[in-house]
Amino acid sequence: MSKEKGFVTEITPQSEDFSRWYIDVIRKAELMDYSPVRGCIVFRPDGYELWENIQRELDRRFKETGHRNAYFPVFIPESFFQKEKEHVEGFNPELPWVTEAGGEKLEERLAIRPTSETMFGHMYAKWIKSYRDLPVLINQWANVVRWEKRTLPFLRTSEFLWQEGHTAHENEEDARAETMRMLEIYRDFIENFLAIPVIAGQKTPSEKFAGAIDTYSVEAMMKDGRAVQAGTSHYLGTNFAEAFDIQYLDRNNQLQYVHTTSWGVSTRLIGSLIMVHGDDRGLVLPPKVAPTQVIMVPVGPPKTREQVIAKVDELYAQLKAAGVRVRVDDRDDVSPGWKFNEYEMRGVPLRIELGPRDMENGVVVLAPRVGGDKRTVPQDKIVEEVLKALDEIHNTMFELAKKFREEHSRSVDTLDELKAFMEESRGFVEAGWCGSEACERQVKDETGATSRNIPFEPSSRKTKCLVCGEEAAHTVVFARAY
Ligand code: AMP
Repeated sequence: MSKEKGFVTEITPQSEDFSRWYIDVIRKAELMDYSPVRGCIVFRPDGYELWENIQRELDRRFKETGHRNAYFPVFIPESFFQKEKEHVEGFNPELPWVTEAGGEKLEERLAIRPTSETMFGHMYAKWIKSYRDLPVLINQWANVVRWEKRTLPFLRTSEFLWQEGHTAHENEEDARAETMRMLEIYRDFIENFLAIPVIAGQKTPSEKFAGAIDTYSVEAMMKDGRAVQAGTSHYLGTNFAEAFDIQYLDRNNQLQYVHTTSWGVSTRLIGSLIMVHGDDRGLVLPPKVAPTQVIMVPVGPPKTREQVIAKVDELYAQLKAAGVRVRVDDRDDVSPGWKFNEYEMRGVPLRIELGPRDMENGVVVLAPRVGGDKRTVPQDKIVEEVLKALDEIHNTMFELAKKFREEHSRSVDTLDELKAFMEESRGFVEAGWCGSEACERQVKDETGATSRNIPFEPSSRKTKCLVCGEEAAHTVVFARAY
C-alpha cells in the first residue's frame, strides 16, 4: 500500500519533499480524507471546524458592510451559460452536467454550478426595477463544482466550499468601490485573522475571471515559495447585466443597465494556512482560527493528581468564561510527553502545563507552539497572560511568514534573471511588463512562472519589460503557483 493511502506514522520533513509533508500533515492531523470520487475530499471535523471559524468571522464582516445571505439552486440551465460568451468559454471545460433525472432524459441539460453569476443575473433581472432597488448586496455560502484536471486537498478540489458575493449597483463608481471594499476585507481578514501576509493587486487580462472587466486578487506565498491566489474580487461592468437584461429606471427615468461585482474565497484558505505556517512537527494553527486555542495538560506523580486536576479545572473555567477555546487533557493512560507531541502535531497554539511544583509556586507554565520558550506566569493572572500570549503568537506567525516571503522575493530586469532564479529556488519575482500577452506567455513557457498580479504597492517601479525590453506598462509579480 502506498504511503499516501496508508496510516501516516511519521511526517516527511518539508525540506525532503514539501508535497509529501503537506499530505502527511493533513492526514495525520485528521483534517481530511480522500473520497471515492476523484478530486473530492471529505472534510473531517477538525478540518471543517477551521472552515466554520473562517466562515463565522467573514460572515460577520460581510454583514457589517451591509451584505445579506441568500441561497440559490445548485443546478443551472445550460442556456444561462450561453448568454455570456467569455463566461461560457472559460467555464465550459470544467462543467459537470446532469442530463437525466427521475428516469427521464432532461429537455435541457443542467450544469452543477461552478459559480453563480448567471443564476444571480437571471434573478436580479426580475427583482431590480428602479434605482430605489439598488444596491443589491447578496452573499451566498455554498458548494461549487469545477472539474479540475490537477487537484490537491483544500487548495484545488473538484467540489469545494466557498462564499460568493454578487452585488448590483447604479453605476461604475459604486460597483468599483464595492469591488475594492471586498478585496480589502479579504486582505485584512487573511492578514489579521489567518496571519498570512498577502499581496493585493490586479490580475492581468489573461488571468482575469471569465466575463469580468477587471479582476483583483490577494496572493500568498507558501513555504515552498509557490503562490496561492487566496481570494478574488471582480468588477463585471455591465457584461452580465446586458446578458441577463438587468435594467432599472434611473433618477431621470431613463433605462440603464446595472453594474455588477462578484467576489469569493474558498476552502483553499485552509490549505494556505497549513502551507504558510506548518513545520516539520506538524500543523501550526493561527490562534484566531484554531478550533482549540489552548490545551491544558496536568503533569506530576499520581499522588498529586487529584489536587492538580482540581486547580486545572478552576483555571479552565476562568479561561472558558473569558471566551478562550480551551480544552483539558487529563487522560492518565498516555504520558504528558506523548500529549505534548500530539497537540504540537495538531497545531494547538498554546499549551498550559500545571504540576505540583507550580501549585506550590502559584504559577502555570505556558508553552507556545511557535516563537519562544516556555515561561511561567502567575495563576491569578491566567486570563490576561493567555490572551497576551495568543496575541503574541499571532504576531510572531505573521512576522515569520512575512520574513520568509521577503527572503524569497526578488526584483529582476530580464527574463534570464527570472529563469536563473526559478531554476535554483522558488519565490516571488517582481519585474516590468509591457502589457503584451505574448511576453507574458513567454515567461510562463520558459520558466513555469505565471503573472500573479500587478501589485498596488510594488517594492519598486520597473521601467522596462523583462522580455522585450520595451517600456513597462506595469510592474508584475511572477511566481510558480498552485
Ligand atoms: P473565481 O470564481 O475563479 O474567482 O474563484 C474564487 C476563489 O475560489 C479563488 O480566488 C480561489 O481562492 C478559489 N478557488 C478557485 N478554484 C478553486 C478550486 N478548484 N478549489 C478550491 N478553491 C478554488
